[in-house]
Amino acid sequence: MKKPRIVVLGAINMDLVISCPKLPGAGETVKGTAFNQFPGGKGANQAVAAAKMGGDVLILGAVGNDQFGNILLENMKSVGIDVGRVEVRDGVSTGIALIMVDAKGQNLISFFPGANGEIDKSLIDSSLGVVKGADAFLVQLECPSKIIEYAIEMCSGCGVPVLLNPAPAIPISEGVLKKCTVVMPNETEAEIMTGIKVDNEENAREASEALLRKGCKNSIITLGERGAYFLGSRRKGKLIPAPKVHSIDTVAAGDVFAGAFAVYSITQNDMERAIEYANYAAALSTTRKGAQPSIPDIEEVEYLIHE
Ligand code: ADP
Repeated sequence: MKKPRIVVLGAINMDLVISCPKLPGAGETVKGTAFNQFPGGKGANQAVAAAKMGGDVLILGAVGNDQFGNILLENMKSVGIDVGRVEVRDGVSTGIALIMVDAKGQNLISFFPGANGEIDKSLIDSSLGVVKGADAFLVQLECPSKIIEYAIEMCSGCGVPVLLNPAPAIPISEGVLKKCTVVMPNETEAEIMTGIKVDNEENAREASEALLRKGCKNSIITLGERGAYFLGSRRKGKLIPAPKVHSIDTVAAGDVFAGAFAVYSITQNDMERAIEYANYAAALSTTRKGAQPSIPDIEEVEYLIHE
């Protein structure tokens, strides 16, 4: 079978993480106990998840002409992602997140968007030819909102289904939601978008109805260990449970869900079935540490789901 062709637009970052016994206050210096650098950025995380689920993935984005940018491009290539349309920009750094984590798992994070913040319309315009034949266009909200809105407009105009993971929750125009085939917020993002607190099946249904009233065709609200709530324009709402796993680190679970859903929505040709698979992929990722290193292969997901 032909691999589903997924185009992802999103941020590509390097996460620099220091573990320390306690978080420093203003003006304080604390000695760290470990340092690690991890490839991150929601765009890159979701692209890697889609590639590992068997997608033929093209990423649109930007990195700086520096060592981090190189490492991130090589990392995406190593899982088969086409990085030919990632701009390598002079005079600006690759996107960086500086993270400090204490022994209790609390963190302090500062990030610099760098090249991600400088993506402009020309990247979208010059990529339209290749985007046209895609099975799905997957996007989050870490890049400049004007560019995201423009890209959604252009992709939906070409008839490519748009899958929006509205993370982090920043204001976007309602006109944009009307162009989305699927919007996939988590509980917090759903609350920010609708004003409805989401923490159970009942209010997930209310928030989903509010999202559909805003114009998107299908809403999938991810609910952590409970799974995801799905409401489509011609369907009754339904909670699709995640499998019970021994979860140790939920970092990037939402990214794994979004990347996996993009691929399975094509290969399964059924949204509920695709959500079930995405729940399994995301749940498996929570049983391992880290963002991209925790993403399972398609074989692991299919083994678990058929068990
Ligand atoms: P985010 O990472 O964006 O906050 P969620 O916490 O809603 O998103 O998680 C996304 C998906 O990851 C869930 O819909 C579910 O499939 C899976 N997941 C997250 N936490 C767990 C868990 N503890 N056990 C099983 N699956 C989980």
